[in-house]
Amino acid sequence: MKGDRGMFNMITVSNLRFRYDSGSTDVIAGISFQIKKGEIFGFLGPSGAGKSTTQKILTGQLKSYSGSVLVAGAEIRNADRQLYNLLGVAFEFPNLYEKLTALENLKLFGSFYDRKLIDPGKLLGMVNLYDDRNSLVGSYSKGMKMRLNFVRSIMHSPELLFLDEPTSGLDPVNARIIKDIIKGLREKGTTIFLTTHNMNDAESLCDELALIDNGKLIVNGTPADLKLRFGEDKISVTLRREGFRILSEHSLRGIGSDEDFLETLKSGEIETIHSCEASLEDIFIKVTGHGLTGTFSDNSDHA
Ligand code: ADP
Repeated sequence: MKGDRGMFNMITVSNLRFRYDSGSTDVIAGISFQIKKGEIFGFLGPSGAGKSTTQKILTGQLKSYSGSVLVAGAEIRNADRQLYNLLGVAFEFPNLYEKLTALENLKLFGSFYDRKLIDPGKLLGMVNLYDDRNSLVGSYSKGMKMRLNFVRSIMHSPELLFLDEPTSGLDPVNARIIKDIIKGLREKGTTIFLTTHNMNDAESLCDELALIDNGKLIVNGTPADLKLRFGEDKISVTLRREGFRILSEHSLRGIGSDEDFLETLKSGEIETIHSCEASLEDIFIKVTGHGLTGTFSDNSDHA
């Protein structure tokens, strides 16, 4: 599995369009992208952009689309049940049985798969829920349900995992645990489609990003490429001189013969020096003319 990372496309979307029966416009308006095997692909956009709709199409829940969506080589609208053994899905609102314990939930969901399963106790231990394994899920906090829902999605070692806001509602420690598990899955060759508003998650986890707005794909590329492409070509320097803090900026082009910059370097007065890359948030604003409606960091600490 690991060996063929990046060798072929796990998902190929070509000119995808979708309109809800009740709607008068296409909420997905002709998007195309590819996701390579073993890649974490971040799908970003403001509320209403079309992220959930795309995710529902890619997981076979909405079939009346036009264009083509190949998942592991099969057109998803015609895919047979076997394909679902390869998929793991953890959407934002946990879909769990509240009157069963965590362990019972995992055993029940596990019975739906025709695949080797990871031991439920081990899964619960990975996300600090082992001590609560015999408690009813109805008594769980939102953060505990999120963690349970997450391990539920990986119990059959899916080859393609869909995650929707996986760290939303988690405290920083549990958010880090989930992110580390996600990185570990990538190491094993799992392909991951990650929908998020959280720019920190997007930047720290994703190999490839796509920004979507109004059902259209606005821009895609690696986080580093996007930041370079949309960043400003300059260096900012702060220095302390005679008790004052002074900020100066220098164009990166020709920096080697910029006398001011070279003098500053030699002066020994420099406190900080940074290249001015764009943040993902800046890029989004630049390419769409608006932000992600103030939801950049919804890592609220209420697990
Ligand atoms: P996102 O996940 O990016 O917030 P969605 O995919 O949920 O966006 O929504 C995209 C557009 O489709 C929005 O305009 C939304 O109002 C509309 N929409 C979503 N679900 C439905 C539905 N079941 N029926 C009709 N319109 C819908």
